[in-house]
Amino acid sequence: MSYPQAASGPVLYDFRSDTVTRPSDAMRAAMVAAPVGDDVWGDDPTVQRLEAYCAELLGFEAGLFVPSGTQSNLIGLMVHCQRGDEYLVGQDAHTYKYEGGGAAVLGSIQPQPIENLADGSLPLERLKRAVKPDDAHFARTRLLALENTIGGKVLPASYVRMVTDWAHGLGLATHLDGARLWNAAVASQVAPADIASGFDSVSVCLSKGLGAPVGSVLLGKRDFIQAGRRWRKMLGGGMRQSGMLAAAGLHALEHNLARLADDHANAALLAEGLRKLPGLTVENQTNMVFVQLEPGMAQGFSTYLAEQGLLVSSVGTAQRWVTHLDVDAQAVAAALAIATRYFEGR
Ligand SMILES: *Cc1c(COP(=O)(O)O)cnc(C)c1O
Repeated sequence: MSYPQAASGPVLYDFRSDTVTRPSDAMRAAMVAAPVGDDVWGDDPTVQRLEAYCAELLGFEAGLFVPSGTQSNLIGLMVHCQRGDEYLVGQDAHTYKYEGGGAAVLGSIQPQPIENLADGSLPLERLKRAVKPDDAHFARTRLLALENTIGGKVLPASYVRMVTDWAHGLGLATHLDGARLWNAAVASQVAPADIASGFDSVSVCLSKGLGAPVGSVLLGKRDFIQAGRRWRKMLGGGMRQSGMLAAAGLHALEHNLARLADDHANAALLAEGLRKLPGLTVENQTNMVFVQLEPGMAQGFSTYLAEQGLLVSSVGTAQRWVTHLDVDAQAVAAALAIATRYFEGR
């Protein structure tokens, strides 16, 4: 899926991504009230509180607050892998496909992409074949990176356990891009730490479904996070009074985690409504709805929606509709009414 296009006219309903939310008044108040200090000097109590809160919630020794999920993943990969190491990763994974090739460009880490199955998993047989022998011809296979949710889908827990056990058995480290780990936990009705279990490091986003304006947290063992702190500084992610941003993340975790179930329910409603329209093939899990349009109608339908102030992500005949904090059940109903009107009289 492409990245969301910029809005060109008045926007009534924005289903492009769960990153488009704006901080609520209560979140802004929490940001204003946060005690702060210089975090590069280790002085910011609110950043420290957020890092400890996430470490506890996800079952790790320590956390590192960083500006973005892209930087969080990159730091994780750079701590696990040295120059000339390689990591096993899905062809559709965000770290591989949507982060500018940062692991290769900045980390001198060779990606070994593996085709994702429809459920987002990487088949064990393919992974086994991709691991290189210890031989000067090859990069050193060092890490397995997974993503959960991936394309809105929750990876099967039994698969995650099996494949992380396999990786550890070979001496590989494991990293989870858990940008939407929260959605996986809420959809599976398990604790966030259960989704993180089996991984040596996890990256989570605060600025997706949780609704904070900025920020991600990288989790791992204490010495892993200590090493990550050095890369964060080098990559330009050392921030000063960033407690103001961390306060938004804490507020989001305390108020917006359980309510992700509402986003999932709204996405299911949306999918159910869209399925009734002619020429649409609809798939839905968690807070994402993927729509395939018949080639003849794709352009007209997408343009019509945008003209009505209803934004979705679209490339060619594929659309992605994402539910979030700023689109409630009423917005879903209104969006479906707009979409339905397109077919009336045709
Ligand atoms: C958004 C996202 C990221 C990157 O987060 P940014 O804060 O946008 O850099 C990483 N992984 C996944 C799966 C994401 O959806």
